[in-house]
Amino acid sequence: MAIPIRKPSELDALAKANHLVAQTLQLVRENIQPGITPLELDKIAEDFILSHDARPSFKGLYDFPNSVCTSVNDVIIHGIPDNTPLKEGDIIGIDIGVELDGWYGDSAITVGVGTISHEDEKLIACAKETLYEAIEAIRPDMRFKELSEILEASIIKRGFVPLRGYCGHGIGRKPHEEPSILNYVEGKSNQGPKIKEGMVFCIEPMICQKEGESHVLEDHWAVVSVDGMRGSHYEHTVAIRDGKAVILSQ
Ligand code: MG
Ligand code: MG
Repeated sequence: MAIPIRKPSELDALAKANHLVAQTLQLVRENIQPGITPLELDKIAEDFILSHDARPSFKGLYDFPNSVCTSVNDVIIHGIPDNTPLKEGDIIGIDIGVELDGWYGDSAITVGVGTISHEDEKLIACAKETLYEAIEAIRPDMRFKELSEILEASIIKRGFVPLRGYCGHGIGRKPHEEPSILNYVEGKSNQGPKIKEGMVFCIEPMICQKEGESHVLEDHWAVVSVDGMRGSHYEHTVAIRDGKAVILSQ
């Protein structure tokens, strides 16, 4: 299936949805502190999104039960919010999606609760720096597989490994569209679709410490690494405009 090329007016609509995601992430970030529960953070985000005449797009998506993915410590992505209060030294991934006027936005951050260890700071920095390094490197006519190569190299050079089996994706009229954007190289990088002006997609490095092999917990959602160690995740929705990738989710 062809990857959609969006008109400027459509890119503006996608920017609005993604701006709301960024505002919601900021609000949740301000509320993260020891003692608050992931379910309380989920409620804060959901109320804020609904008050802007938008819809939390993860709720009900593939039957996900909540509005926000809250991934604590060893959970890397897709954590279901629960009643366990956050503690000093925890790390939590917050992944938020919205639908506004039929257009979708998606972005994620990982943040520390209170003071965190130097090791966890490096783990989080790997996801964040990899994301921005990849966005900077994007040029039209580059293949998506070359982007995957850049993502993987950026993760490895920081001493970590990409989580396998999950990926970034196109976004627009649906929360997940073509293509899949892996954080590692599979197959030859001189094959597959090219990045073109007007495309919109999500880049989301998911970071493991030792083993990239993933495992899904008994709740059928939370994804961890088989190494049992903490992971991190960052994500932006970007649009290709004027020869470069512009971050919409800010
Ligand atoms: Mg996301
Ligand atoms: Mg995503």
